[in-house]
Amino acid sequence: AEDMQYRLRTGEIVDETLYPKVPHMRSEEARLDTFASWPSNSPMRPTDLAQAGLYYMGQNDLVQCFCCAGMMGAWESGDSAWEEHEKHYRNCFFILGHDVGNMPLVG
Ligand SMILES: [Zn+2]
Repeated sequence: AEDMQYRLRTGEIVDETLYPKVPHMRSEEARLDTFASWPSNSPMRPTDLAQAGLYYMGQNDLVQCFCCAGMMGAWESGDSAWEEHEKHYRNCFFILGHDVGNMPLVG
């Protein structure tokens, strides 16, 4: 996958209170709901993307992180949602394991 926008610079001091960037997508269930029109030919599964903090933006295969607002697209076979997120936005507080209010699916 390619990063479509680079919001967090390596080593930059960021104010944690500004996160998550997209609070209404803190819930994994809400994120999963955005994938209703996810392209069926994409190698990526909505469940994996939602789990990695990503939700569908409704265009092509473009997804965005609820926490860092980093955008990714052009997913390829063999990509891992979590690894791509980490690769492109490694200062993301969700990726770093901070409590940013993520609400995982229950059960
Ligand atoms: Zn992120």
